[in-house]
Amino acid sequence: MRRRIFTEEHEQFREQFRRFAQKEIEPKVAAWNARGTSDKETWQRAGAAGFLGAAAPAEYGGAGGDFLYDAVIMEEMAWIRAHAMMISLHSDIVMPYLVTYGNEEQKRKYLPGTISGDILLGIAMTEPGTGSDLANVQTRAIRSGDHYVLNGSKTFISNGQIGDLFIVVAKTDPGANPPHKGVSLILVEADSPGFVRGRKLDKLGLRGQDTSELAFEDCVVPAANLLGQEGQGFKMLMEKLQQERLTIAVASVASCRRALEDTISYVQQRHAFGQPIASFQNTQFKLAELATEVEIGQAFVDTLMVAHVAGEEVVKEVSMAKWWITELQKRLTSECLQLHGGYGFMMEYPIATDYADAAVQSIYAGTNEIMKVIIARRMGLG
Ligand SMILES: Cc1cc2nc3c(=O)[nH]c(=O)nc-3n(C[C@H](O)[C@H](O)[C@H](O)COP(=O)(O)OP(=O)(O)OC[C@H]3O[C@@H](n4cnc5c(N)ncnc54)[C@H](O)[C@@H]3O)c2cc1C
Repeated sequence: MRRRIFTEEHEQFREQFRRFAQKEIEPKVAAWNARGTSDKETWQRAGAAGFLGAAAPAEYGGAGGDFLYDAVIMEEMAWIRAHAMMISLHSDIVMPYLVTYGNEEQKRKYLPGTISGDILLGIAMTEPGTGSDLANVQTRAIRSGDHYVLNGSKTFISNGQIGDLFIVVAKTDPGANPPHKGVSLILVEADSPGFVRGRKLDKLGLRGQDTSELAFEDCVVPAANLLGQEGQGFKMLMEKLQQERLTIAVASVASCRRALEDTISYVQQRHAFGQPIASFQNTQFKLAELATEVEIGQAFVDTLMVAHVAGEEVVKEVSMAKWWITELQKRLTSECLQLHGGYGFMMEYPIATDYADAAVQSIYAGTNEIMKVIIARRMGLG
């Protein structure tokens, strides 16, 4: 079905990005997956070609486009399974904090470098003891003269090894009541004294993506690195989660399309009992059902993207899309693996990695259970 949300400019941008990705990204994906991280040079090439911060303001070097340009990149990256290079984390999840809440000095200092790919971004919310319950973070950032001193540890942080600048969620007022009023966001450069990169974690899926532990050991950062106001961190996080969750939904439905397409090709080539397995009614019905659900998911995501670009508050609906589509992705990759038979279990077939990569989608950016908590609350159910 023809999608109607993209203009001709968006489609031209898609062509440009696709050409770039075919040359600069796709050939490296296997090596990144083997190594467990992408490389800085490719980020810089993407920056130089104008593909980082497509929606960031032009005055800081961005392209000044809308979220749909970034969505184009997410879809293309999902199609080539380039999960190792999380452009969406950099451009759509972390950079918007700088754009929205950074003061002029912070924007001038950091945005041009993030857009050129010289400064890679990460966000450090999760801790060993708390993930979903963000107000309960234990990392502290205590003001001391014109500095903050940070102590604490974070885990599961994307870009943990290669990131240059992290937005760290920390308590500036550990005694605040309610606790979320003590949460602030601090910009921490990776070469700050006391900033320690921990283990790069060994994961079931997203093997090429660098997910790491971080520690702050009397880590000293200038007080000027406070993002927004003290005690406003939780509010800023909540405001930005709409885009973060929409990003997951956009990439998730694109990954579903790729797994489905590859499975359709496979079942047409593979024979059993003297006929292509595509000719069995079970195969046809399964794929017909999944294709239907992908179209439903795409229509919902497209509607949400239009609303988001128009500035509408669609937190409830985005939470619905995040849980529903990521559950679809898990089910779809499982069904498609089954249709590959034993080959589906072999790592040389992409459906095996699709299946493993899908598992995390219902966990990060807020678990699917938390999505339902948000939806229920907004339905007036407590
Ligand atoms: C590959 C990967 C990359 C990540 N990248 C980042 C990153 O860059 N930055 C970052 O800060 N974090 C990152 N995370 C962390 C991720 O956001 C958290 O894992 C997630 O928020 C869940 O937190 P948790 O792991 O502590 O699980 P918990 O909060 O301990 O949850 C465990 C289970 O309890 C359920 N649960 C919790 N509370 C409720 C409730 N109120 N009602 C019902 N059920 C509930 C959860 O849904 C889940 O099923 C990443 C994680 C992974 C796996």
